Amino acid sequence: MAAEGRTPSALAPKNVADGVWQLPLRGVNAYALETAQGTVLVDAGNRGDGERILAMLRVVGLAPPGRILLTHADMDHAGGVRAILQVTTGEVHASRLQADVLAGHGRPPALRRFGRLLTGRIACEPDLEEGARVAGLLVVATPGHTAGHVALLREDDRVVFAGDALAVRGAKVRILGAPLTEDFAQACASLRRLAQLQPNLVLPGHGDPLPAPAHALEAALRICESRR
Ligand SMILES: [Zn+2]
Repeated sequence: MAAEGRTPSALAPKNVADGVWQLPLRGVNAYALETAQGTVLVDAGNRGDGERILAMLRVVGLAPPGRILLTHADMDHAGGVRAILQVTTGEVHASRLQADVLAGHGRPPALRRFGRLLTGRIACEPDLEEGARVAGLLVVATPGHTAGHVALLREDDRVVFAGDALAVRGAKVRILGAPLTEDFAQACASLRRLAQLQPNLVLPGHGDPLPAPAHALEAALRICESRR
């Protein structure tokens, strides 16, 4: 893409933690991590965002990703994968359930079937399962928004890539409402799980990175309790 120099600052990559960049796309974030084994991408935006992501990586001096980790298979997180795979032989990783959806085997709920068409079939390593370590990140199962949704924890500095297990609005944490979230009670349990990780920084799929999120997570959990 030719617009690097004209990217509005709100859509410019931001260094948000040591070796971690927020790649703000239109309404959704991807994140890039610099590791000893090369660039790791967490989520990949919508269809059409692949080129944008590659351009942002060039701006911050990172190579195309060798690994793409997907928190889940929704079209605003997996849509850019195919364009990125045109320029890199990178591996794509997802949970078993979400890898099935991306491979065209799984049967996503009605709301998500159209999104799968836009994403296309993508072959994934189905190894983002609870307790696994992939690309130096600990996989934390956080179902609710979708079955098989995962968050990823960098244990050294307790940075959490949350995907859509939560969203950040201002300095507030929210669970995405129905019908976007398949199982609200499960999403609340996953939010509790994220709070128990005692993160120093939460990196959401939607909204801005939230440092020191303990109070915001507690407040969101109180809202969960009140809706039981
Ligand atoms: Zn999303």
